[in-house]
Amino acid sequence: MNIDITKIVRPNINYLKGYSSARDEFTGKADVFLDANENSLGSPVLSDHSRYPDPLQVDVRTQIAKDNGLNTENVFLGNGSDEAIDLMLRIFCRPGQDNVIICPPTYGMYAVCADINDISLIKVPLLQETFDVDTENVLSAINRNTKIIFLCSPNNPTGNNLSRTSIIEIVERFQGIVVVDEAYIHFSEQASLIDLINEHNNLVVTQTFSKAWGLAGLRLGTAFADKKIISLMNKVKYPYNVSDINQTLLLSAIDKQETMKSRTTELIELKTELQQDLSKLKSVVRIYPSDANFLLTKVTNAAELYEHLMNEGIIVRNRSKELHCDNCLRITVGTKEENRRLVKSIQRYEESTIY
Ligand SMILES: *Cc1c(COP(=O)(O)O)cnc(C)c1O
Repeated sequence: MNIDITKIVRPNINYLKGYSSARDEFTGKADVFLDANENSLGSPVLSDHSRYPDPLQVDVRTQIAKDNGLNTENVFLGNGSDEAIDLMLRIFCRPGQDNVIICPPTYGMYAVCADINDISLIKVPLLQETFDVDTENVLSAINRNTKIIFLCSPNNPTGNNLSRTSIIEIVERFQGIVVVDEAYIHFSEQASLIDLINEHNNLVVTQTFSKAWGLAGLRLGTAFADKKIISLMNKVKYPYNVSDINQTLLLSAIDKQETMKSRTTELIELKTELQQDLSKLKSVVRIYPSDANFLLTKVTNAAELYEHLMNEGIIVRNRSKELHCDNCLRITVGTKEENRRLVKSIQRYEESTIY
């Protein structure tokens, strides 16, 4: 698919002249910087952070681009991938007028960001048994005010990949933006859709450093897309959305690709063990197949088990209120010891409960 991006952007965003920072306005070389009202005497801590960071994060975006076989202009870096999700809505959707399609049960932020921006939601449920995307119903739900379709693969909270051919079919048939949220892609056997952004300028792939990269506390996420979309994102974002500490830390973290990969493998092994241990428990009704670092687990009584685990200091996520997720807990794969404690605790729960 190749669409005219300018035509679907909110008119005020098309006309917007982005904020021009002090550092944007000078070109050339200098060593006396008296342009940004920073503190010339420095920071009150050992490391100096008195200067504003690079607003366009060129060094780190260039490295991320290289690692993914793309150009710097195809990479957006944000305060978590949640920033990218919010930016998509603010760039493409006219409040009170446009709508987006989501496929529940799925990640809650799409709906929250849409609500905040007064964008209405069209919900096309995932197929009940497989939790795969319902391609035909997604395509027929599109109307002339539909600007974005959000797909999450692997999906949260269900853990499965959406079928690659279905995602591609939607990208190829929709004259709007398809955001594919790949927060858990590193745990998945299915390949990322990043490669396809050169072929389809309506495809935006988001990833995060919060999961496989183990950097949730830093708040760093990326979006990969056509350079027109990335430049719109950079125009609309806060000028200094990624701190200097974060840019520096991320540069050294992404150098440790091997560590990330071996830990990902280890977590996948731990998931298999946890899945086997949980499946032997009487209170566990069903464990859904997972391509992520968590297991959606149907139990006999989610509210009761959740309460019991909490009383023993173990917190899981009760997803029972989500569509097709009755009595389901979402359990993140922990360390060997944490997983052992979880299983022991469920065994104690079973001993105190009559079946
Ligand atoms: C965890 C998660 C994210 C990550 O968000 P960040 O803001 O990057 O921490 C994005 N999408 C999904 C589906 C997630 O589960």
